[in-house]
Amino acid sequence: MKKTELDQLKEFLSTPKRVVITTHKGPDGDAMGSSLALYNYLVKKGHQAHVITPNDYPYFLKWMKGDDQVIVFENYPQKATEITQQADIIFCLDFNTLSRIDTFQPVVESARAYKVVIDHHQDPDTFDFNFSDPSACSTAQLVYEFFELMNETEMIDKSIADCIYAGIMTDTGNFRFNSVTPKTHQIVANLMQIGVRNDWVYDQIHDNASLNRIQLLGYCLSEKLVVLDKLGVAYISLNQAELKKYKFQKGDTEGVVNYALTIKGITLAAFFVERDGIVKISFRSKGKVAVNALAKNHFGGGGHINAAGGAFDEMSKAIDTFCKVVTNYI
Ligand code: 5GP
Ligand code: MN
Repeated sequence: MKKTELDQLKEFLSTPKRVVITTHKGPDGDAMGSSLALYNYLVKKGHQAHVITPNDYPYFLKWMKGDDQVIVFENYPQKATEITQQADIIFCLDFNTLSRIDTFQPVVESARAYKVVIDHHQDPDTFDFNFSDPSACSTAQLVYEFFELMNETEMIDKSIADCIYAGIMTDTGNFRFNSVTPKTHQIVANLMQIGVRNDWVYDQIHDNASLNRIQLLGYCLSEKLVVLDKLGVAYISLNQAELKKYKFQKGDTEGVVNYALTIKGITLAAFFVERDGIVKISFRSKGKVAVNALAKNHFGGGGHINAAGGAFDEMSKAIDTFCKVVTNYI
């Protein structure tokens, strides 16, 4: 990013603006934490801001300050469209290409607003203002660094700290991925000094499950886990009927894929779930095994080297394809 671009953005944000903040479809902890951290900061600065998500997100993320003001595009397309058309500036958080906002894409694309991206995915599209760092552990860390660039870290209060912490914590698998750097921990130390409720945030996100959710996890592990020993590959699949049996709520299958990766010798794990007429797939891997390439080349998706996702039209075809091509990626 050029110094002059940053100065222009600072100048632009020095008077009240109409702001839209959006994030990727299927918002996760980083998506919501980043969006609401930025939202609370901009509101504090006197801007009129709205967070618009393409679709709904899990109940365990619905505690952040400003969450009650979030507009879900799928539920309120007209209202969200009007607000976006009138926006002066749109912040795109935690995604690298507009197709990631799904049906909200044409609205953002045709909006006349100045477009800013803050993101940590590889190969970002070019926006009007680009703050992209694929080496960053999370977009939430980049939102913190954005406040640093704006010379306004003193604006971070406890509520904003909670949001940033939630984003960093979830996207680093609770600080265990190798994307975590000294800078990550320095930022978290600063958040703790501000008064972040780190244990409370963890509790909201991870210790907030329904009995059904835990029983569904048990079922996945005892009945649905397929291990391809020799390849170091494991996968789990769930169909609609199985989800129904366990009274599935959005978010209930989040993290299931990680259990397959905890088995000794497994370096690539996949989770297939049938939802809304398509099969959504999550991939996770260890070390140099690049699941973003697998997701991109065969499942119309993408992501990070060790965490990626994609989709397919039908379950048995998805699994067949996976089993056929996976050997090229391990
Ligand atoms: P998850 O498995 O948690 O849904 O997604 C893991 C990561 O993969 C996300 O952070 C995102 O970077 C990426 N990802 C998931 N689904 C898709 C998709 O459909 N398209 C692309 N490009 N990336 C995805
Ligand atoms: Mn992220």
